[in-house]
Amino acid sequence: MNDRYLMFIDGQWRPAASGRFFDSIDPWTQQPWAQVAEGDSEDVATAVNAARWALEETPWTRRPHERAKLLRRLADLIDDNAERLAAVESRDNGKTIREERAMYGAVGGYFRHAASLAETIADESPRGLNPDVVALTRRVPFGVIGIQTPWNTPGVIMAQSAGPALAAGNTIVVKPSEQAPCSTLEIAKLAHQAGFPPGVFNVVTGFGPTVGAALCTNAGVDKLVFTGSPEGGRIVAAHAAQRLVPVTMELGGKAANVVFADADIAKAAQAVAQGFTAAGGQSCQCGSRALIEASVYEEVLHRVVEYVTKLTFGDPSDPATDVGPMCNGAQLQRVEKYVAIGREQGGRVLCGGGPPAGVDHPLFYAPTIFTGVTSDMTICQEEIFGPVLAAMPFETEADAIRIANDTRFGLSAAVWSRDLNRAHRVARSLRAGVVWVNNYRRGDPAFPMGGMGESGYGRVSGTEGYREMTQAQSIQMLLDEVAP
Ligand code: NAD
Repeated sequence: MNDRYLMFIDGQWRPAASGRFFDSIDPWTQQPWAQVAEGDSEDVATAVNAARWALEETPWTRRPHERAKLLRRLADLIDDNAERLAAVESRDNGKTIREERAMYGAVGGYFRHAASLAETIADESPRGLNPDVVALTRRVPFGVIGIQTPWNTPGVIMAQSAGPALAAGNTIVVKPSEQAPCSTLEIAKLAHQAGFPPGVFNVVTGFGPTVGAALCTNAGVDKLVFTGSPEGGRIVAAHAAQRLVPVTMELGGKAANVVFADADIAKAAQAVAQGFTAAGGQSCQCGSRALIEASVYEEVLHRVVEYVTKLTFGDPSDPATDVGPMCNGAQLQRVEKYVAIGREQGGRVLCGGGPPAGVDHPLFYAPTIFTGVTSDMTICQEEIFGPVLAAMPFETEADAIRIANDTRFGLSAAVWSRDLNRAHRVARSLRAGVVWVNNYRRGDPAFPMGGMGESGYGRVSGTEGYREMTQAQSIQMLLDEVAP
């Protein structure tokens, strides 16, 4: 154990009101590596009060250029400290240092892009029916926004909503997952260093049913942003409905890579392989289904198997490691359960189906490919959140679209084809919030991120993400001294 983290509330580092701490477990060593303050509803109340005070008693909401300056400073500090942030997050959730470095190469960009929105998004002046009315439509902040994040990508996920929320003049209380809270506290340190005023950026750590629930039910929170599982989303949406506050929901996915025969097969196969093995499949954008045109089905699968069987498993802190351990035992059991269901329902395991050979560690699972499956099977319908791929051949474009859309989810998808007419036709027929064409799992702070169907509602990131953190206020001025 080498680190102890307090919470960041009202510009100060504080222990929990209860004085309790919980352990953050390193999935590789399976030992506690940090102690984190275990907050409860009292700490949430303190943080929300501080956030309200900053909102109502300081000029924060009226200083977009000051906000932009602070967001840029934070972005620069994140860039400068990317290596430490990556190392901390990797210890917390077991993702490889290579993946974490790539993530933290991007996090600063979300805050930087948000800064540009703070400076440039203009009010509108719509022309109404009465020419003597001068009207202004302003985008005003909601107030205090409660942001809850999952363990798999805490830094990026927080930046995608916290950046636009702060840019728009809200104040925030962030509750990271108890499975991986430390990188968010490290970012709070940098926000403090950047000079964010007390109360603007707060982090309360602790467990979902206590801290998460308290954030949802606290009357001082004006809007919620939840990123996590559909199960968690239902609980949070119910709280939001009780309080009649808006909520942005970023939930799970069941993404399909749709590969046509005219695609660059080598690139498509590599993307399919990376799509379900990156982060050990513990990604909302995990490409857990591959729909492959029948004429190239065998060839693509052959290449995917070749790719995944060459992956290196091991210590996530080693830059040579391709795949680290699952985040915890519950995650591993979830994967085992779905693989067993896949077998029971008649799926054939082409590769994987258990721990990888030669790895002496209880939290590893080998990339597993199912063939002989149909779209109605459980493994094609439910989010596994592990390195499991269901491969299905298709004959026609219409079949590909039908199968791709045949889930309750709609977060992301990809189309692989050299025919851009077809690629566009298929892309716009897919029910997914993000569709990549001839690339996969690329993030960009300029683009909106979010889901359709049970993948959620509302958007984070980009201009859409900024609008999501604001509400319209219409000011209508009737001129009474109008010349004839
Ligand atoms: P989770 O739902 O278990 O937890 C998410 C957050 O909710 C955590 O902070 C947790 O503490 C909190 N929480 C848990 N129970 C709660 C309760 N009763 N009341 C209030 N809050 C509660 O999700 P997870 O396991 O951390 O993350 C994995 C899920 O997140 C997957 O489904 C994945 O697809 C999804 N995800 C979605 C996106 C996206 O952008 N759409 C991104 C990353 C992850």
